Amino acid sequence: MIIDVHAHPYFLKEMCGSEEQVKFRRDNFGLYKIALQDIDLFKRQIAAAGIDKVVLLPLDLSSTAGGTLMSNHDMKYLEDLAPDTFICFGSIDPNSKTALSDLRTLIKDFGLKGINFNPSSQHFFPNDKAILYPVYEIAQKYNVPICFHMGMSWEPNSLLQYANPLLLENVAKDFPDLKFSISHFGWPWVVESCILAMKYTNVYIDTSMLYFDSPREFFKYVFSSQIQPSWIDRSLSNKVLFGSNYPRIEQLRMREALEYAGFREETLHKILELNPIRFLNLQGE
Ligand SMILES: [Zn+2]
Repeated sequence: MIIDVHAHPYFLKEMCGSEEQVKFRRDNFGLYKIALQDIDLFKRQIAAAGIDKVVLLPLDLSSTAGGTLMSNHDMKYLEDLAPDTFICFGSIDPNSKTALSDLRTLIKDFGLKGINFNPSSQHFFPNDKAILYPVYEIAQKYNVPICFHMGMSWEPNSLLQYANPLLLENVAKDFPDLKFSISHFGWPWVVESCILAMKYTNVYIDTSMLYFDSPREFFKYVFSSQIQPSWIDRSLSNKVLFGSNYPRIEQLRMREALEYAGFREETLHKILELNPIRFLNLQGE
C-alpha cells in the first residue's frame, strides 16, 4: 500500500464553491495559474502514479489572511467521498482563541487523521510553550500525528524565521509519544532535519521538496551534495515518508524522482509504504 503523505486539495473542482473562494486560495497558497481538477481525474492520476492512498492537508489562516484554505468541515466531507483513497488531516489556527476547542472538534467530531501546521504562513514559533504545548498534549493523548511545513514555503506572507526545523527539538523531546513529520525535508535545512529524525524516534521527514530544476535533478542534488543516499539507507530508512506536494508537483514525477535517487530497494519500500503506515497508525488496515 503506497501512500503519498503530502498533498493539498484546494483546487479540486467539487470543493471550490465560488470564484471568490478560488481567488483566496490562489492568492494565499501562491499558485495562481492552476486549473481546477475533477476529483475523478485526480483519483485516476493517483492510480496512474501507483499510489493507493493520499494524505490531504488543509490550512487555517484565520489570523494571518482572514480565512481557511479549506475548512475542517470540508475535509471531513472530502474523506467521506473517497474513504479508501483520501486520508484527511485538519488544521487549526494556533493564534485563535478557539484553537483548542477547534482541535477537539477536528479529532473527536470529524475524526480527521492528523493536524497540518505551517508555522511560516501561520506566523507562530512551534516551540512556543504557552500557545502550542496544550495543542501537543491533546494530539499526543489521542495519538494524532502532526505535519509541520518547515523550511522554504512558497506561500506569500510566509516567513522563514518560523520554519527552521531546529525549532522542533524541544517539541520532540517534551512530547516523545507525539509523532510529527518535517515537510520538504526542511529544505534548505536538510542536515538539521536529518539530525532531528536520527536523534528522536517520534520525528519523521517527508520528501515534498522541489525548489529548482526538475524533481529528478533536485533529488539528485539534495541526496548527493547536501546529504548522501547512504545516510538514508543506513541511518534514516525508517524515518522518511513519501510526499509529493501535489498540486505544486505531479505525483508521478515525484515518485519517479524518488526511484532514481539512489536508495536501496528495501529503503524505497519503507519510504513509500511501511513508514507512512506506521506514521499514520494504519497498521492492521
Ligand atoms: Zn504542503
